Amino acid sequence: MSQRVTILGSTGSIGRQSLEVIAACGMEAAALAANSSVKLMEEQARRFKPAIAALADEKAAADLRVRLADTNVQVLSGLEGVLEVAVIPDADTAIAALVGMAGLRPTLASIREGKRVCLANKETLVCAGPLVLEEAKDYGAKIYPVDSEHSALFQCLEANRDRGEVKRLILTCSGGPFYGRKREGLAGVTVEDALRHPNWSMGAKITVDSATLMNKGLEVIEAMHLYHMPAEKISVVVHRESIIHSLVEYCDNAMIAQLGAPDMRLPIQYALTYPKRVPGPSSPLDLWNCGPLTFGAPDLEAFPCLALALEAAKTGGTAGAILNGANEVAVSQFLRGKLGFLEIAGKVERALSQVKVVQEPSLTDILEADQAARELVGSI
Ligand code: MG
Repeated sequence: MSQRVTILGSTGSIGRQSLEVIAACGMEAAALAANSSVKLMEEQARRFKPAIAALADEKAAADLRVRLADTNVQVLSGLEGVLEVAVIPDADTAIAALVGMAGLRPTLASIREGKRVCLANKETLVCAGPLVLEEAKDYGAKIYPVDSEHSALFQCLEANRDRGEVKRLILTCSGGPFYGRKREGLAGVTVEDALRHPNWSMGAKITVDSATLMNKGLEVIEAMHLYHMPAEKISVVVHRESIIHSLVEYCDNAMIAQLGAPDMRLPIQYALTYPKRVPGPSSPLDLWNCGPLTFGAPDLEAFPCLALALEAAKTGGTAGAILNGANEVAVSQFLRGKLGFLEIAGKVERALSQVKVVQEPSLTDILEADQAARELVGSI
């Protein structure tokens, strides 16, 4: 029987590319969930014939129900609908690709069903890393990274038997659209400028995070939890070409890197097929024409979001949830033209200094920290 996959966030960038991989690799989509994209969800439901299509937005779901009336697809709505998709017994694999903290509960629901979870929602680990991994252990769920850097680290660590031999993890960072600019040069940047990423095509939220380098900071915290490494043993290197997706440095100074064309379909596919490798739709890397590869240090002064995230990584506890909650609200304010680019970091910094950090938090502590950070940023 072919692998059956449920997708949380099927209409977003990762969700759409996941469906391409699923189609190319002969897998099936058991159920699909998204927030509110009615038209695209209708197309996906007609093409992939899932048992359930759920939209979190009630109005959008009502519209979808009318549009899909001539099919056998069951249309569900709200968080309950998304949770049904997360736990559908018919799927052995879940792709967790919802954006932001909103992905935490559905991802946990898939984990509690013991599914193979292909994790693209980094906020889940940033906010609740230890808790999520503990639940995965308890319920026998395997988590495989979809984020390209974490997939690279996963591949570079595959032959490693003793984590004590690892000197550090090195995450590569494209530098985003504002690489090379100093702080003064960033004051007037517009939403349009920030959405122009040099190498990767992604959703709006993550593209802004890539422009502030917050995305890399979130990825450091994600890597810390996924690979049980202290923040001090994780470095960031600016690598403009996005050809090396990350590296592991071992205690003998050997460095193992994973290379590939910047194409998310490869890490998505590897999370789906591991430990097997199969031919798929991702583009090959043309080494003869990809040009020289460059490396440099990130500019923490021009991009203070990265420094704030590194600090939150060292603090631990609910600091990740506070950082993320504040950032989500600040980025949405920036996208709506209500906040300047440089003010994003200022808001996150204030939340980190004013919301109390709880160590070894429960899920309630995490949700409260997230809420407190959101309210603080919303009300400044
Ligand atoms: Mg990434």
